[in-house]
Amino acid sequence: MTARFYRQQNNRIHCTLCPHNCAIREGSSGLCGVRLNSGGELNLPYYGGASALAVDPIEKKPLYHFYPGSEILSIGFVGCPLRCPFCQNYRISQSTSARTRRISPEQLVAAARDSGSIGIAYTYNEPIIHIEFVLESARLARRHGLQNVLVTSGQVNPEPAEELFCAMDGTNIDLKSFNEQFYRRELAGDLASVKEAIRIAAAHCHLEITTLVIPGKNDGSAEIEAMARFIADLRPTIPYHLSAYYPAYRYVTESTSPATIERLAAVARRHLAFVYSGNVSGANHTDCPACGRRLIERSGYHVCSAGLAGRNCIACGTPIAVVTAAAADSAGG
Ligand code: SF4
Repeated sequence: MTARFYRQQNNRIHCTLCPHNCAIREGSSGLCGVRLNSGGELNLPYYGGASALAVDPIEKKPLYHFYPGSEILSIGFVGCPLRCPFCQNYRISQSTSARTRRISPEQLVAAARDSGSIGIAYTYNEPIIHIEFVLESARLARRHGLQNVLVTSGQVNPEPAEELFCAMDGTNIDLKSFNEQFYRRELAGDLASVKEAIRIAAAHCHLEITTLVIPGKNDGSAEIEAMARFIADLRPTIPYHLSAYYPAYRYVTESTSPATIERLAAVARRHLAFVYSGNVSGANHTDCPACGRRLIERSGYHVCSAGLAGRNCIACGTPIAVVTAAAADSAGG
């Protein structure tokens, strides 16, 4: 299978999919490990190679304002353009040798329909490096009335980002820090590209944002406030998830305390209407920003949306930034 988003120059292939813009020699792969220069073409030896396929609660992505309480068929692949030393899925992201099962877009869409879930989430590793498979599957899924969700680091160049987010109905993008050096030196990433991907996604599909809060790395109030301001400038109703880090892969720093998450959530709430805590126990409900009525009650993955009438608060009628089946039906009708 041949890739898109590349050009040939001086006997090398230049992949233009993500900000690494890898120049790839014959017989080699780019940094993500899954895009291979073979005979002067960029090939996709891992096309449709699923490392994981499972039906998950949509809240696990996390998406709290997108079909709350529903389930979604979730697919993961292998490889990643980043090198996060705290990756919780490093076995499939930092290696391409994980066991995979070949699946076609047609088989994936059939599995999503059989699952009775709302659609397909492309998740677990970085799905953007498999953009050709994702786009083909997403377009087919949409024709069958299924939803498409992308869970991503946002490491993507603007042109493919436009095409990708147009094909999605919802996305959760990681904003791992607001420190360019931290992105570049510790993650091999590019903050400016992530911010641009967030702007593009905000224009095309339902968007939520997650920051994994790591002690000593990105847990300063000023940094969290700067990220909350950036999100609020796009839309103050974009849901923002502050997730507690726990030791994984190469990081042995102690887990983030619930008190830290609560302190930083209070900072983010100065600018954003919907801020949630992840990886810590405790309430994570959604209340109406106008009248305070409980709209969505969550207990683990048990969800009750009794406070919503379509996309509005049942008590005061305020429109709420949430996508529900009822709202989609009424919009369609
Ligand atoms: S997608 Fe992979 S090959 Fe392409 S530029 Fe990014 S890391 Fe390099």
